[in-house]
Amino acid sequence: MNPFLILIVEDDQSVRNLISATLKVHQYNYISAADGKDAILQSVSRKPDLVLLDLGLPDMDGTEIIRSIRSWSQMPIIVISARGEDSDKIQALDAGADDYVTKPFSTDELMARIRAAQRRSSYVRQDSPESLSFTNGRLQIDFEAAQVTCSGQKIHLTATEYKLLKLLAVHTGKVLTYSMILHEIWGSALETDLVSLRVHMATLRKKIGDPGSDRPLIETHVGIGYSMIRY
Ligand code: CA
Repeated sequence: MNPFLILIVEDDQSVRNLISATLKVHQYNYISAADGKDAILQSVSRKPDLVLLDLGLPDMDGTEIIRSIRSWSQMPIIVISARGEDSDKIQALDAGADDYVTKPFSTDELMARIRAAQRRSSYVRQDSPESLSFTNGRLQIDFEAAQVTCSGQKIHLTATEYKLLKLLAVHTGKVLTYSMILHEIWGSALETDLVSLRVHMATLRKKIGDPGSDRPLIETHVGIGYSMIRY
């Protein structure tokens, strides 16, 4: 069996059956949800590698699910929808979907899009394996040795500060929301943890010489999260 796990979100049983039968033939693992609530629950608890998402669900609009998943994960989301309108496509892509397939679709096309999404996500993962080192401006991280240097000076970070820096580095140029960071580092999204996130971020930035620097590495997005600036 392919270890890649796909979550099918579709309220129409016949379409769900068609997709799951196709995935089975291609030896993918899959789980399915027939409504939005279950889809969000399963995406959090099972952490699938990819989501196939119908937009028209009985309890909520699919774009709400995309926003919910995007608040904490970059897992690929392919929308499968009967709505062929450009505005629906734009809305779904703007909310964070990776691709869009219009019903009726050919199963060959669907499989090709899944493979493309798979290639993109493994490219992202290859881009940031533990064994590589990372350089951005004055910052250098040796992922293998978990060692950080700034302008050639070795920096001593706590385990949490290191995890934070690594997370931002791996996603350089992208804004990471508070909830995604909390999920990744503390495994929770509690408001109370936001205070400790701010504290760790402040000490981390001090250590890498960020405050007052004319070339800060980490940017604060008030009310949203943080990003590492690419140099
Ligand atoms: Ca539907």
